[in-house]
Amino acid sequence: MPKIRNTSLHALGLLKLLYEHVRVSRSDLSAMTGYSAFLVSKLCDSLLKKGFITEVGSGDSSGGRRPTLLSIAPGLGKIAGLHVGRVNARMVVTDICGNELAFLKMPSRVSVGPSVAMPHLIDLVEKGLQKAGVRREELLGIGVGISGILDREAGTTLYWPKVPQWVNVPVRRIFTDHFGIAPEIEDTPRTMALAERRLGLARHAENWVYLMIGASMGSAIFINRELYTGSRGFSGEFGHITVKDDGPLCGCGNRGCLNTLVSATALIHTAQTSVSEGLSTQLWELCDGDVSKISVDLIVRAASAGDRFSIRLLNELGSQLGKAMITLVHLLDPELVVIGGGLAADAGQILLPIIRNAVSDGVLPLTANNLSIQFSELREVDWAIGASMLVGEKALEKLFLSKQEAAKGGVKKLESATRPKRDKEAVSI
Ligand SMILES: [Zn+2]
Repeated sequence: MPKIRNTSLHALGLLKLLYEHVRVSRSDLSAMTGYSAFLVSKLCDSLLKKGFITEVGSGDSSGGRRPTLLSIAPGLGKIAGLHVGRVNARMVVTDICGNELAFLKMPSRVSVGPSVAMPHLIDLVEKGLQKAGVRREELLGIGVGISGILDREAGTTLYWPKVPQWVNVPVRRIFTDHFGIAPEIEDTPRTMALAERRLGLARHAENWVYLMIGASMGSAIFINRELYTGSRGFSGEFGHITVKDDGPLCGCGNRGCLNTLVSATALIHTAQTSVSEGLSTQLWELCDGDVSKISVDLIVRAASAGDRFSIRLLNELGSQLGKAMITLVHLLDPELVVIGGGLAADAGQILLPIIRNAVSDGVLPLTANNLSIQFSELREVDWAIGASMLVGEKALEKLFLSKQEAAKGGVKKLESATRPKRDKEAVSI
């Protein structure tokens, strides 16, 4: 292999690590790759000189001089990230490092149907670009996280449980027609999990699971830090495991899916039904007798004020989720489960001990020793930043390769350029 190719591979590998870990020192890079300190220093000097990376202050010292931290140079380009849930959509414009330049949140209008929602979502992206003062031509890419069941190759929603109009909607094509850029599309539990891996509690986790609980439920599985997508991309449909025979009908057509018992929709529906039937609960006063005002926030407020009915509802939800998680934990033996999403953000403090108890009651002791269950600390803007991460690393690679090509008069595409692993081959150049 010619020297230039190996050096470029190593440099690109470092860039990817810098993107993934946001801020790292040269010695961190050396530890992560197994490259010598000399090689890392030489590669970083070259990347600094070419403007791909920048020095961003000092890290913690382990005794000696405080190490200088490096990050991707934010001026390399801008990215748009769109997070589309069934109820709300969040849009962010970031620089290539993921720093927020503008953020907007609006109702997604998904339930009205794609003919209304798609132009509305395009308008939301346009408004975000305007707010950030970023022209369409300046974008390196657009990442879209969307909550339906997807054909990722084609960029279409195959269907969306509970919103029946979303059958075979060509989301990628509609965005491409408008923006002239083909967006990357992935489902929202995965884009939220990408944010968790880069910015949240899973920064150092190898084998872990992200559970999203919002209007519905989903998950993302990471094995050796990489997202596990399954044979055709449909892994992680944890919300559709059956937990109750003859339970409520799920949007997927089956009965008793976890989704129907553990989601904001399920929680609110149960509360509304009970209040309408005249059950004695503080929720009645809190919603002024209008059950349509009942929200997760209201149920949490009632529970915090000692309302027995609301406490019972949250107990049942937490315990149901914990029981289902036992299967997940036994199957995958994860070191970490992060629970995020709207319901998690509103009710996490109350639910966490209930879930932990339910899991530890049913899981094998040896497995429990290694397991941490946490609620996400990320904000809604981070969910949209997660969508932007679908394109960040690819855009960075493209920029690097095009600059290499320009500088060297045509370097062949570095097809095997992936994150460097700790191996002997990678050390030698
Ligand atoms: Zn289902």
